[in-house]
Amino acid sequence: SVQQETHGFQTEVSQLLKLMTHSLYSNKEIFLRELVSNAADAADKLRYRALSDADLYQGDGELRVRLSVDTDAGTLTISDNGIGMTRDEVIEHLGTIAKSGTADFFSQLSGDAAKDSQLIGQFGVGFYSAFIVADKVTVRSRAAGFDADAGVQWESAGEGDFTVANIEKPQRGTDIILHLREEEKEFLDEWRLKSIIGKYSDHISIPVEMWQEGEPEREEGGETIPATEGQWQPVNKATALWTRNKSDISDEEYQEFYKHVAHDFEDPLAWAHNRVEGKQEYTSLLYIPGRAPFDLWNRERQQGLKLYVQRVFIMDDAEQFMPQYLRFVKGLLDSNDLPLNVSREILQDNKVTQSLRTALTKRVLTMLERMAANDADKYQKFWGEFGNVLKEGPAEDYANKEKIAKLLRFASTHSDSSAETVSLEEYLSRAIEGQEKIYYIVADSYQAAKNSPHLELLRKKGIEVLLMSERIDEWLMSHLTEFDGKQFVSVTQGDLQLPESDEEKAEAEKQAEEHQALLSRFKASLGDKVKEVKISQRLTDSPSCIVTSEQDMSSQMVKMMKAMGQ
Ligand code: ADP
Ligand code: MG
Repeated sequence: SVQQETHGFQTEVSQLLKLMTHSLYSNKEIFLRELVSNAADAADKLRYRALSDADLYQGDGELRVRLSVDTDAGTLTISDNGIGMTRDEVIEHLGTIAKSGTADFFSQLSGDAAKDSQLIGQFGVGFYSAFIVADKVTVRSRAAGFDADAGVQWESAGEGDFTVANIEKPQRGTDIILHLREEEKEFLDEWRLKSIIGKYSDHISIPVEMWQEGEPEREEGGETIPATEGQWQPVNKATALWTRNKSDISDEEYQEFYKHVAHDFEDPLAWAHNRVEGKQEYTSLLYIPGRAPFDLWNRERQQGLKLYVQRVFIMDDAEQFMPQYLRFVKGLLDSNDLPLNVSREILQDNKVTQSLRTALTKRVLTMLERMAANDADKYQKFWGEFGNVLKEGPAEDYANKEKIAKLLRFASTHSDSSAETVSLEEYLSRAIEGQEKIYYIVADSYQAAKNSPHLELLRKKGIEVLLMSERIDEWLMSHLTEFDGKQFVSVTQGDLQLPESDEEKAEAEKQAEEHQALLSRFKASLGDKVKEVKISQRLTDSPSCIVTSEQDMSSQMVKMMKAMGQ
């Protein structure tokens, strides 16, 4: 064929392909979900482009996916009339992985199939899942807006490389032809295919069709039943899931839809589906993923919701509708108030965007509150995956500070574990008589926090202290000043003014007087290195400790600033 070239896969693609065929074997039917999901995305993209250029439809505006089998050849073909791909796009999209941080991610793979398959789940497999069931895949595509002679054919056995060649392709869109492995011929069976589509792809908004043979004319009970013609028949519901009534949607459907919009592989932890009418009109379907994506901390990461306007797909990764500290939220927003020609620039400073963002932020916080109240184990899982992101909240979202604070979880001296399980409400419920403050310590590690001499007296008095040791914690605590009217106090700072009895007070004054001379000598010999030397009630076993005054930066903050070179 014309201009055939051979290209090597990006290293990470080769690694992914190798891993996938081994580790996803038990759930191989998901390849169909992935390929149908891509076809639906391709339809969405074409519809969007056609908003401003209707000619792109080239007389074929009924977007759909078709499945067909050729039992003799042993092939299953998934064919769409969506946006299609140019030669360059085919090489780019089907030869590389377009996520920043991919190489880093792959360097974490261990070679242990069970562990790695979990990592892959987190990564998503997409198109490459075709190779779970096929030992050769042929892709034939033609991009919208081009002529028949601008087709391209991609072919690979899923090993090190693939070929591309120019072809004639009369119809716009993409055909994915799977040459099924000998042992995967079950995917030639019509009933099997129908049941997989029902299971995974009912919610896809375009029809998934299969060919239904016609019947010849026949006699039945003395009557002549006329011949019927063969035709393409939809096998899915083909209604966008979020437009349906909540009560008609099963958990499984919500979960499958999540995998489609989030390009994820695992079930979400929770979701909230809301239709709002009135001053603002929109539908939102927001999900909390079950697992943090590998690139959650990567600054270049694409994040945000899928945006639709009046049911028409507009863009992926609209990041304007969620604050940074909720960047793990996936899902979609379908607005009736934004214009169809909305762009990222228009979204940037737009009143509608602002009010949607406020409303959606509330929804997510409410969803998390409910999860925390109704299913502590699930919430703990959420916290383990995304807790450190949520800790950015108090700094970013002043208006919701108290709500966010309620959602925080900490390690504390109450339990002997580094697990962050204690809520502030729980902490306060254990406050001792006269305790008006919330005490905490931030240190370099859990061990350092737990063993700090600063805790001695509080321990003795039975006062619980929150133990913090994550990098983000100092930042968090510099923005979290009170909760439920109670001030946060770092135990390393100033005079703790712990609740004390009258005897304790008298004893302290007596000691201060008795040791006046000693204190003066300490101060004289330490000179400028300290501001003050005081008798302390906070120690029980250690002879002395260093504290900073309330007005000064905490010692942890000083270390951080030094590390940043300031
Ligand atoms: P994802 O869907 O998460 O982007 P995939 O591996 O499933 O990742 O697909 C990779 C890319 O290949 C898609 O983003 C898209 O650009 C392109 N692609 C795959 N299938 C099709 C298709 N049927 N039509 C047009 N483009 C496609
Ligand atoms: Mg995909």
